[in-house]
Amino acid sequence: MGAEALLGAVAAEVRGCTRCPLYAGRTHAVPGEGNPLSDVMLVGEGPGAREDATGRPFVGPAGQLLDELLRSIGWVRADVFIANVVKCRPPANRDPDPAEIFACAPFLDRQEAALDPAIIVTLGRHSLHRYLPDARIGTVHGRLRRAGSRFIFPMYHPAAALHQSSLRETLFNDIRGLPAALVSAREAIEADRAERLPAATLDPAQPASAAEVDEAEQMTLF
Ligand code: URA
Repeated sequence: MGAEALLGAVAAEVRGCTRCPLYAGRTHAVPGEGNPLSDVMLVGEGPGAREDATGRPFVGPAGQLLDELLRSIGWVRADVFIANVVKCRPPANRDPDPAEIFACAPFLDRQEAALDPAIIVTLGRHSLHRYLPDARIGTVHGRLRRAGSRFIFPMYHPAAALHQSSLRETLFNDIRGLPAALVSAREAIEADRAERLPAATLDPAQPASAAEVDEAEQMTLF
């Protein structure tokens, strides 16, 4: 199954999900949306009122700022895939609790596996802590980080800038570094791939790693 079909299957399950109590208060679940072929996945916290009313992520005031941020680097929504840590609105926009995040995690795991993005932009601390549980947003924002096999680009949540105007400038500064971070992440992924390729699949005229160079040189000695 391709990424689009896999993401569609996850979305259908999310819409019928009753794994945690948040389902009881929802108008619409918000599975996520965007380009199924994108190398960039944005992960927010959870739907707010407007998202709950429409079933779409980041369409309220925080979403308008997110659109502006993407536009500031020449990107649009259709270039990325946008999802959330929890797919149903927590009452009165409270933080999602750990049991809700845990119940919803398999959906995000599957979205991530289907997209296999080169870079994941975390929006806010709940999303950041899924990948880097000990990281502090104040220290890591705007800098590419590695979490296992994933590359993470932590950002403040756009909603935070609606309450604290100084963060607006920080968000625009941080996102300016995203295109270069994406290039770095892609290069690192390619380098990892080349490192893992079995020698038989490589062009013998072009050794790809130092180890293979050594091996090629050694072969000429015997
Ligand atoms: N805030 C989020 O974290 N996600 C949304 O989809 C909307 C607002």
